[in-house]
Amino acid sequence: MERSLVLLKPDCVRRRLIGRVLARFEDKGLEIAAMRLMQVTPELAKRHYAEHVHKAWYPELETFITSGPIVAMIVEGPQAVRVIRGMVGATNGLEAASGTIRGDFSASQQMNLVHASDSPESARREIEIFFPS
Ligand code: ADP
Ligand code: MG
Repeated sequence: MERSLVLLKPDCVRRRLIGRVLARFEDKGLEIAAMRLMQVTPELAKRHYAEHVHKAWYPELETFITSGPIVAMIVEGPQAVRVIRGMVGATNGLEAASGTIRGDFSASQQMNLVHASDSPESARREIEIFFPS
């Protein structure tokens, strides 16, 4: 069993897509091990996106990710990190394959609905940020 940190970003919540995106993970047989509706603060955004903080587009990303509530989840299953990244699709919604969440619902590089951990190490780090205990 592996765990991934999944965020349904503010665009997903605003567009009333929580249920449809969640259904895909449930349909796949993945387990929702924890879930919370919350607001990302600038401090939390900088921790979560530490690898991007120095990029030119980071300020826009922080504005976006703090712009409204998100749903944070721990999602569990066999090879969950790789499986979920595959279900989420390429970063840019305009390039993501049809059948992926981003490919089906996003037409933006930034507003791409979902975050999913990119490795088991990232998952451990990110879960600690969003579900400290
Ligand atoms: P992923 O979420 O697929 O792992 P990255 O780690 O590269 O993608 O980027 C993190 C998030 O930052 C993306 O999901 C997207 O919301 C945003 N982002 C990525 N590239 C850009 C960009 N060039 N301009 C604005 N926002 C971006
Ligand atoms: Mg990433």
